Amino acid sequence: MDISVVVPLYNEEESLPELTKWIERVMTENGFSYEILFINDGSTDRSLDVIKRLAGENNAVHAVSFSRNYGKSPALNTGFIRAKGDVVITMDADLQDSPDEIPELYRMITEEGYDLVSGWKKKRYDPLSKTIPTKLFNATARKVSGIKNLHDFNCGLKAYRRDVVKHIEVYGDMHRYIPYLAKNAGYKKIGEKVVHHQARKYGTTKFGLDRFVNGYLDLGTLWFQSKFGIKPMHIFGLLGSLMFLIGFIAVFVVLLLKIIAMCSDTFNFWVTKSVYFYLSLAFMVLGVQFFCTGLIGELITRNSAERNNYLISEEF
Ligand code: UDP
Ligand code: MG
Repeated sequence: MDISVVVPLYNEEESLPELTKWIERVMTENGFSYEILFINDGSTDRSLDVIKRLAGENNAVHAVSFSRNYGKSPALNTGFIRAKGDVVITMDADLQDSPDEIPELYRMITEEGYDLVSGWKKKRYDPLSKTIPTKLFNATARKVSGIKNLHDFNCGLKAYRRDVVKHIEVYGDMHRYIPYLAKNAGYKKIGEKVVHHQARKYGTTKFGLDRFVNGYLDLGTLWFQSKFGIKPMHIFGLLGSLMFLIGFIAVFVVLLLKIIAMCSDTFNFWVTKSVYFYLSLAFMVLGVQFFCTGLIGELITRNSAERNNYLISEEF
């Protein structure tokens, strides 16, 4: 099979027939063997009935239906596990992404050897309240992830070599950072293609403004995981040592002040009156906490089933 099209959807009943027809047309025109995998993310409208009807009309249409709304990431992950095509293409269900991009995306993966090609909605048809924060968000993501050539991390339209989707796990809200996940898994050839974007034709967006707060928090998590995921003690141990060092210096200062006071005439120096006493206390406690966190982190990574999963590119 050449292509699996994975479509996560949540309450998109109006768009589905049009989208399916469009994908079918592109596929037959280009002679691709394909499947369309709808992942119904707990829709409460008639999306599931619509998909059932579409599947009856075309046996390339398959679906998985969640019993409740889990989110776009779990939907994509489920699609990735089931996808059979050599190239896997993800696409939003709301007709904002154009299936006409599929042949070129397919060509970039199979002929130019990209692991992942991400769409870039260079000209966007979204409200300003969305496009401006998105610019900021992408700039941060570029910096943190080190993937300097991507302008649009969260574009729903992406193409992958099958191997890639089988080696990444998208969870939580991490669909915003799939290129970063792929990079962390060891896939380096990540490209971009300018794609056509359209205003949402039916329904409304499924994401509110909290996307930006959560987006940044997730970026922090991913950064931490990629840097210290398998060696947490390296960061917590360093911070712990730093705290201890400050604590020891403070203790030393308190002792020195006490000794000076004892040697001089003004004998009445109480260490508890000195700010250094409290500094030493606070920093020692912090130091112990960092070390304990590091040790717990090490125990968790040691128990992780993933701890020795390495992506091997060649073997002789
Ligand atoms: N989606 C989903 N589960 C959710 C939210 C969204 O499967 O909990 C799907 C949605 O139906 C659409 C895609 O993810 O196919 C992108 O969502 P949307 O168009 O609302 O996002 P936007 O284009 O506004 O970023
Ligand atoms: Mg959309």
